Amino acid sequence: PIQLSIQELTKRFKTGDGVKGISLDVMKGELVTLLGPSGCGKTTVLRSIGGFLDPDSGDIQIQGKSVLKLPPEKRPTAMVFQSYNLWPHMTVYDNLAFGLKIRKVKKTEIDRQVKEALALVRLESAERKTPGQLSGGQQQRVALARALLLKPDVLLLDEPFSALDAKLRMEMREELRDIQTQTGMTMVFVTHDQEEALSISDRIVVMNAGRIEQLSSPQEIYDKPQSLFVAGFIGRINLLKGVSTGRSVSVSGIPFAQEHEYTGESMIGVRPEDIVLTTEENGSLAGTIRQVMILGHYAEVSLDSGTHHLKMFVPRERAAELRSGEHIRFSFSKIVTFPAAQ
Ligand code: ADP
Ligand code: MG
Repeated sequence: PIQLSIQELTKRFKTGDGVKGISLDVMKGELVTLLGPSGCGKTTVLRSIGGFLDPDSGDIQIQGKSVLKLPPEKRPTAMVFQSYNLWPHMTVYDNLAFGLKIRKVKKTEIDRQVKEALALVRLESAERKTPGQLSGGQQQRVALARALLLKPDVLLLDEPFSALDAKLRMEMREELRDIQTQTGMTMVFVTHDQEEALSISDRIVVMNAGRIEQLSSPQEIYDKPQSLFVAGFIGRINLLKGVSTGRSVSVSGIPFAQEHEYTGESMIGVRPEDIVLTTEENGSLAGTIRQVMILGHYAEVSLDSGTHHLKMFVPRERAAELRSGEHIRFSFSKIVTFPAAQ
């Protein structure tokens, strides 16, 4: 069933920026991520759902009922921000209990719920500490626990891990995904980090300049970007010029199959892992190795081919045999093409 339905949401700020006709359904128990560059309108959508911002037009429904007329505290939503927004002078326990006390929940019930939420984020031992005594990651877990115990119909998370260091950010991704599986909670997650989006989402909404560019599963966003913008924003990609005729596109005179049928100048996208070295002369391109950078289990190899400068990923063992200046031949195992005029 549809838990959250956003219909033609539009908000225009005085500057002319904002969001333009965003429509999106989120299913119950689903984690959907809004992904896009800074300023594309992610927070505007999230704040509209939470009730912190009045849209100009459109509707937002949760479990089939419009929530637009409700103030934030009456909406069945809870929000987690990049800044943790904890009460600095209160203990972790009291930070969590606060919202329940206001709702006049019984003391024994508050105790049960606070402990349950702390267990979910694995912070039982921090109950009596104040936020200042906790690390950034722990503080964000407290903020997450506080949102979880309100048992919102939709949990909204606005770049919640952006302030954390890279290693912790990866741990938090896993934890959030675990929590989501355990609770079955519906979540709308906002990030500008494509790797974060690819790793945690059931579906990703790629946004650009206030609009939805693509709405698909992570796999599909990566493998089948529907626009040059999505292709360039998600993952690493090489862009080359080519010429298409029907189902074929040629690069430096070498033909490759293309999925969509059209004729004219093309932009061709090739992921670094989809460039393969070959000894086969037929159907391959000639190139020269410029640089080999070992990055752990794989290497990033830059190569020149005519006017094209490409990056490819090569397993470490193979990369050790490559020398800069060496002439090689290469081909593409997978490409995406777009009409150049796009
Ligand atoms: P994101 O979260 O994707 O970085 P936002 O939703 O915060 O983007 O902002 C989208 C656009 O709207 C940006 O250009 C931003 O500057 C503008 N904007 C956001 N909030 C306001 C506001 N309260 N007043 C004026 N402009 C705003
Ligand atoms: Mg934002």
